[in-house]
Amino acid sequence: MIRLFMLMLLLISFGFSAVGERVVWSSGMSLLAFLESHSIPLRLYYNLSNADKELSSEVQVGSVCYILRDDLGKILQILIPISEDVQIHIYATKEGYSLDFIPIITTKITHKVALSIQKSPYQDLLEKTNDSVLTNQVINIYKKSINLEKFIRKNDLLAVIYTRKYRLGRTFSTPEIKAAMIETNKKSNYLFGFEDTFYDLKAREIVGFLLEMPVKYNRISSPFSYGRFHPILKQTRPHYGVDLAATYGTPIYAAASGRVIYSGYRGGYGNVVEINHGDGIRTLYGHMSKRSTRSGSFVKKGQLIGYVGSTGVSTGPHLHFGVYKNNRPVNPMGIVRTTKKELKGTKKQEFLRLARNYQEQLDAILSPIEQNP
Ligand SMILES: [Zn+2]
Repeated sequence: MIRLFMLMLLLISFGFSAVGERVVWSSGMSLLAFLESHSIPLRLYYNLSNADKELSSEVQVGSVCYILRDDLGKILQILIPISEDVQIHIYATKEGYSLDFIPIITTKITHKVALSIQKSPYQDLLEKTNDSVLTNQVINIYKKSINLEKFIRKNDLLAVIYTRKYRLGRTFSTPEIKAAMIETNKKSNYLFGFEDTFYDLKAREIVGFLLEMPVKYNRISSPFSYGRFHPILKQTRPHYGVDLAATYGTPIYAAASGRVIYSGYRGGYGNVVEINHGDGIRTLYGHMSKRSTRSGSFVKKGQLIGYVGSTGVSTGPHLHFGVYKNNRPVNPMGIVRTTKKELKGTKKQEFLRLARNYQEQLDAILSPIEQNP
């Protein structure tokens, strides 16, 4: 408890400290290289368990790390986020340095916005929220099912309910859209976020992921897990992908078409390929024996990208397959499929209750605008 309190004090002091330094994680950076470049003993990495070595390879390009130094420039503390929930914590001790994994403390705020469209849904929402990530997300989802340019008229209404996480006074990770409504020539089009995807009022999915299983595997050797972090016991570790045990040399195919954003060697993942599929979807393939694609090239769904191996931190040949939605890891086994979902039974009932509640909230924030545009 005292430890947690001290940590919170440190975190708070970070927000105002003049010696706190923000460092952006660059492409291809590994924890080992990071330690080396900051003259921190490499044993901090070598002493990690295999699972933790793999986890430390999860740090995403563009992540913001914080480095706190004393007046003489000696590093006192480093925080490196590896997901929305967990960060690597390196801190000075009497003997040198220590490393552990600790929860990320964030504040979640729900925002509700409503407006009458004057210029374009994109322009107006951006001006109202000042949040380009949120604006892009909302417009991209709607574009899947509606031709916005063609059907929207001036004074059509738009409303969004979403949550945003804040870390050290700044927005952190991506917004979560709970519900939205956009009018097209006075016709209401609602959408509701539910279990990692979006549905309309009739519980039909709006955005369909179209990912295919990238490998013929024998069994799942380690399932996906958010490993919800216990702040005191500090035992559970997340596993941001699924390990698919397969014969050495089994071909690996792109789960969907997209652009290869990384093909190279990275820490615990060994030979790794990452593909950006657009719409905020990214896939990662780790521990390959051989890569057969290059950074920057375009691949088609089902195209060969490499072979199963055991490179990096691995106890036997397997594919570590990761799927990210807006940089947030999601369970690949729940997303690999070829058709849109339609909710049924008790799940549908649960969704409809939630949707009705959000529909009322959206209508409530829209009614003053409707009466007085
Ligand atoms: Zn794995």
